[in-house]
Amino acid sequence: MISRSGELSAVDRIDTSVAHPARRYNYLLGGKDNFAADRESGDALAAAMPTIRLAAVENRMFLQRAVRFLARQGVRQFLDIGTGIPTADNTHEVAQAVIPSARVVYVDNDPIVLAHARALLSSTSEGRTAYLDADLREPEKILAHPDLDATLDLSEPVALMLVAILHFIRDDEDPRGILARLVAALPTGSYVVASHVTWEYLPPAVTAKLEANNDNGQFRARNTEQFADLLDGLELVEPGIVSVARWHTDDLPQPRPSVQDVSFNGVVARVV
Ligand code: SAH
Repeated sequence: MISRSGELSAVDRIDTSVAHPARRYNYLLGGKDNFAADRESGDALAAAMPTIRLAAVENRMFLQRAVRFLARQGVRQFLDIGTGIPTADNTHEVAQAVIPSARVVYVDNDPIVLAHARALLSSTSEGRTAYLDADLREPEKILAHPDLDATLDLSEPVALMLVAILHFIRDDEDPRGILARLVAALPTGSYVVASHVTWEYLPPAVTAKLEANNDNGQFRARNTEQFADLLDGLELVEPGIVSVARWHTDDLPQPRPSVQDVSFNGVVARVV
């Protein structure tokens, strides 16, 4: 379907013939919004790393714990870039359960997420949510979007969420500069919540297999040091960069999964 402006509708922009990260992640989380190519890619990753589904679940749990942690500290605005296909307990639901007036702007560049955006717009009446069809690699477009301006007050603290997205930005696309540009638009007292795939806990033979499945070169795992480099100038909240399976887990049943089995680092950092 072509809209009057000549743009393809979200549904027509969906290419089911190649694997897409949002749909593959949905598959790994046990969701139904995925196609054969996504399942094949997910199965190939699972053949190399049998615990990959656990990793996806642990990453999602980290996102939810971090949102709750910040909302409990009074953070009521969230800019969630790399939203993913809506699932249970999305950012606005977790935040608004703590602060009903919380506001969330979601951003994703995949038309499948756009096609499901209605589920992300189910805000409380006191709060507000918006969805932007935009690309992290174009931070200026995100910041200048009228729906962002209408939803968030950038003179008040915002939690910038980059959860399981930075590994889709290649080094030559300047992830450090992109993050710096977004952070520069936020006031002191804002936060960055981020998670990142790392191979540092894995045996080299497993890493080699995973490296072979790199989304045509668009995927880039980064270790703790490389992840820290992207966060330059921010103040890391305790305990700093750790496995998502180790971040603020005192209230969770023990023992937690091993860092090898999860292979995702997470962090919450403060804008100073
Ligand atoms: N943050 C969610 C979903 C992670 S899946 C979570 O952690 O649970 C990664 C998401 O990032 C996918 O929905 C994918 O479409 C999106 N993404 C990847 N590259 C992107 C880019 N350059 N700009 C915007 N979104 C991107």
